[in-house]
Amino acid sequence: MDYSTMRKPQDVGGLSAAPPWETITTYLLSILTGAYFLLKALELLGYPVWYYIRVAGQILAMESVTTRLLDGVKSLVKNQDVPAGLQNSKVFCYQNSITQGFAAIPSLNNWLQDFTARLGGSSEDSPVSFALQDIVKRLNDNENNGTTFNLDRRLKEVGGFDEDEQQDSHEYLLKVVEKVDDEAKKALKKKRIETFSWSEAAKVLLEKSDIKHERFPGLFPSFPPNPLNGMTAKRVTCLECGYYGQLQHEEFHALTLNLGTDTSYDISKLFDEFTKVETMSDVNCPNCTLNAAKASIQGLLAKDIPEQLRDTLTARLETINTAIEDGKMEDETLVKTCGIQEKLFQKQQKTLQTVVSRPPKALAIHLQRIVFDERLFRQYKNNAPVNYPEFLDIAPWTLNSSISADPASPLMSLDTPGLNYQLRAVVCHAGTYNYGHYICFRKRPTWVKEDGKPPHQIDTWFQYSDANVMPVNEPRVMGNGQATLLLYERIPDPPTLPTQTVDDCLTESRPVLKRGRGEIEDNGGPVDVEVLPSHPAFEEFRPLPAFVSAT
Ligand SMILES: [Zn+2]
Repeated sequence: MDYSTMRKPQDVGGLSAAPPWETITTYLLSILTGAYFLLKALELLGYPVWYYIRVAGQILAMESVTTRLLDGVKSLVKNQDVPAGLQNSKVFCYQNSITQGFAAIPSLNNWLQDFTARLGGSSEDSPVSFALQDIVKRLNDNENNGTTFNLDRRLKEVGGFDEDEQQDSHEYLLKVVEKVDDEAKKALKKKRIETFSWSEAAKVLLEKSDIKHERFPGLFPSFPPNPLNGMTAKRVTCLECGYYGQLQHEEFHALTLNLGTDTSYDISKLFDEFTKVETMSDVNCPNCTLNAAKASIQGLLAKDIPEQLRDTLTARLETINTAIEDGKMEDETLVKTCGIQEKLFQKQQKTLQTVVSRPPKALAIHLQRIVFDERLFRQYKNNAPVNYPEFLDIAPWTLNSSISADPASPLMSLDTPGLNYQLRAVVCHAGTYNYGHYICFRKRPTWVKEDGKPPHQIDTWFQYSDANVMPVNEPRVMGNGQATLLLYERIPDPPTLPTQTVDDCLTESRPVLKRGRGEIEDNGGPVDVEVLPSHPAFEEFRPLPAFVSAT
């Protein structure tokens, strides 16, 4: 973020001479006297001026009109000490709060700037990205302190929500990020077509190099993923045979942590809950199914059976052995290739665990406060305070260099290097689960002048309630019982991303873990372990994994 335009205190307050109060009073009295005689003259000419003034007074007495007028006056008298706010003409506080939150994330600001400047084409091609880039830039520009802006229609209309009903701020965040990602993907595709050259394409076909992306940048334009873009990995493991197939990867733009019915929470407990090993019953296990079929055929072959049947069974046993060795565990292989009926699929107890597999540059944490009260059989919003730190290390809940093959133990060990984040904004919701008001707390650098020290900048928390912005103390922000969205920024700056295309990073293409066969002995037999591929997404911050033995 560029804070170079920040006003210094001497610019803001100034040290001008004392105002000439006597002169001002004389002017005011002259204006009032002049106005009185003008109105009196109009009355003599037959205009009912006093009646008009009385009606205007009655209208002003209505609260909403007065408030708007006061807001108008406030916006005319710029308070240079508070950052810019956003107008709310209807129920847009959820949009305003999220927009202020976006503006508080430095990496997102830089990414939007880069995207609109280098890749986005025109505002017609990427309307939401351009509108978002424009508003966050204006909100962060200290030249605009004390003013208010209206959110652009392009941003108001994202998600197609009903404009007369308040919506969920988390939903709105997801819709905006999805839209921006979508525009980035389209812009990259367009860029690829624009820069495509047949002569380069011909060279690529002849080239046997692994670094085609670097050799022919014109053919493979790349762009880093949206900073809010992270990934989780899910492992489902059979408690009977230890099989867990491929890790299932899922992209996220905000990590949802669910509150229960407790009266207070710590964010680490919510993360523990999110990543805990859960047990599920009656889940198909292809490995157990293949092994059961194998045992059954071997049993039949040991008996005295007709030669023709023996040949058929021997061939089927071979197919099953190949499927086990190659790790071909899809339902289709079991039914069509191995001839196992679906009703014979083995159902086992399995464990399930989800962890963060690609930590994003900017981490949005959604605190899901809507819980179901089983005693009263109704939904309610749990306003329990959640203790969240300014500096958060998510390493304990992130996939690290080693993956455990033991179904009962966590996916990875906890002794990993820090993955540190700093809190940049908190979106709060006051009210019930279907009605209320959203505000945003965010940090802004402000100039301070302390005795004996030269003016310097410090990060200060501000509360943004639409157009009303004011500085607040940190205790008002931390552990808030109304916090619904926490926006963290990764610190220190992670190393430059390896070259990857938007297509690689967006939902269409996800890294797939290869199945490998390890040499680890577990209960006397070899155990299949996962091998992480050399996909850029995994090289972003983490080293390649090593095999670990099951304990
Ligand atoms: Zn199994």
